[in-house]
Amino acid sequence: MSETVTLSVDEVHALAKAALLQQGFADNHATAIANTVTMAERDECRHHGLFRMPFYMNGLWSGQASPSIEPVLTRLAPSVIRVDAGYSFSPLALEAGDAPLAELAQEHGIAALSVVNALNVAALWPEVERLAQRGLVGFAFVAAAPYVAPAGGTRPLYGTNPMAFSWPRDGLPPVVFDQASSASARGEIQIRLRDGKTLPDGWAIGPDGQPTNDPKEALAGAQLPFGGFKGSNIAMMVELLAGPLLGDVLSFEAGARDTANTGAPCGGELVIAMDPAKFLPGGDRKAQLAHAEMLFERITGQTGARLPADRRYEARARSAEFGVKVPKVLHETILSYAAG
Ligand code: NDP
Repeated sequence: MSETVTLSVDEVHALAKAALLQQGFADNHATAIANTVTMAERDECRHHGLFRMPFYMNGLWSGQASPSIEPVLTRLAPSVIRVDAGYSFSPLALEAGDAPLAELAQEHGIAALSVVNALNVAALWPEVERLAQRGLVGFAFVAAAPYVAPAGGTRPLYGTNPMAFSWPRDGLPPVVFDQASSASARGEIQIRLRDGKTLPDGWAIGPDGQPTNDPKEALAGAQLPFGGFKGSNIAMMVELLAGPLLGDVLSFEAGARDTANTGAPCGGELVIAMDPAKFLPGGDRKAQLAHAEMLFERITGQTGARLPADRRYEARARSAEFGVKVPKVLHETILSYAAG
C-alpha cells in the first residue's frame, strides 16, 4: 500500500471544507460537500470520499458548477417537491429537500423529491439513510455520464446509474443498500488504475468491444451492466426515473453537456420516501418493523450472509476510534487546494 496519512473524521471535514472554501465555494456549499465527502471517507467508501475532491474542483474550475447558487424548492403536487440545484453540486440541494420530503411522506404516506440540474459525484446512501433515521423507507436513483453498454451492445450509453434503498429499524441502524447498476462503480476502476491493479472478468470491454481486465482499456471502452440483461434493464429504468420523469437529461445527454470532461455530470436525482405506518389500516409501524426483523434474523443467521450497510457501520465505528487513512499523495493534493 502507498504511504498514508491518518486523519480524524473531524480533520477530514475541516480539510475538505478549507479546500472548498479556498477554491471559491460558498460556505453552505462547502459545508454540504464536506459533509458528503466526510461521511464517505468515514464509512470507508473511499471512491466517494476525499478521492472525489478533484472532481468537485474540476466542476468548479471548468465553470460547469456554480459555487454559490441557492437551491430553489417548489411544490409540484401535494406530495411531490422539486429542488433546482441551478447547476451546482448536489449535496446542498439534497439537504434542502430532506426535511420537506420526510414531512410530506409522513403526511401522505408516500412522497417524492426531484432534484434537478445537480452535478452528482456522490454516493446515494446518505439521503436514504437520513430518511430511514426518521422512520421512513427510502429510495434514490441517479443517472450519470454514459459509461455502460446496454446488454449485448458495445458502446457506452447508460450511466453507472446507482439506486439506493433504506429500511428503518427499531433501535438499530437502518438496513441500506446503494449499488451501481454496472458491474462496478467507475471510481473503483479509477482507483485500480491509480493502484496499478487489474479488473475482474465481466466488468468491462475495451474500445474494440472485447472483454478487458485493463482499467485503462475499460475507461476508454465501456463498462458492463451487472447481471447481464437484468442489470441492463435496471440501468434503463434508472435513466428514465432520473431523466425524462424529472425533465432532466439522460446519461448520454449529460455526457455531451460535460464539454470540459470534468467527470462530474449534471442531471437529476429522484428520491422517494414512504411511511410504513400509512400502509396499514390503523398503521402498526412497530409490528411492520418487527416482521421485517424476522427476515433480517434469517439472513444474518446464515454463515457468510450479512445485511447491506453493516460493513459501513463497522467502518464508521473504526474511523471514530482510529481515524481514517488517506493516501499521502491525495492528502498533499487537497492541502494544495486549501493553500490557494
Ligand atoms: P458495492 O458493490 O460496493 O456495494 C453495493 C451494495 O451492496 C452496498 O450497499 C453494500 O453494502 C452491499 N453489499 C456488499 N457486499 C454485500 C454482501 N456480501 N451482502 C449484502 N450486501 C452487500 O457498490 P457499487 O460499486 O455498486 O457502488 C458504489 C457506490 O458508487 C454507491 O454508493 C453508488 O451510489 C455510487 N455511485 C455513484 C454514482 C453517481 O453518479 N453519483 C454512479 C455510480 C455509483 P456495504 O456498503 O455495507 O458494503
